[in-house]
Amino acid sequence: MQKKCRYCAGVFDGNAASECCCAECEKKYRSFSQYYKKYKTLFYCLIGVILALILVPVFYRPAQICAPIALVLMGLTLFVFPFGTIGNNRKKGIKKTVFQVRALAVVALALGIGFGIYMLVRML
Ligand SMILES: [Zn+2]
Repeated sequence: MQKKCRYCAGVFDGNAASECCCAECEKKYRSFSQYYKKYKTLFYCLIGVILALILVPVFYRPAQICAPIALVLMGLTLFVFPFGTIGNNRKKGIKKTVFQVRALAVVALALGIGFGIYMLVRML
């Protein structure tokens, strides 16, 4: 039976119960799942805080400084908890998803810091 490895997304021959191509992937897949289960509540809370920080300046313009703070916080959150979406994890494999989410996190962090410095310089 042809299956796709949940971790590396490689195609392998396995039975209905197997989810990964090798013991190594199996181990990494399990530890990622455990990490996700342990921190998903915290992760979603942080995402909520970030969305609130993004929305505040929409209603209260002087709070524009919230935007770069939200970007920095988003970068840090996604780097530490590179969960992506579960659907995405299944299709591409966790390995690739983690890499892509971390790359996005670094971009968000850099943009947030750059944007924050720009705003501070303009305020002075
Ligand atoms: Zn694999």
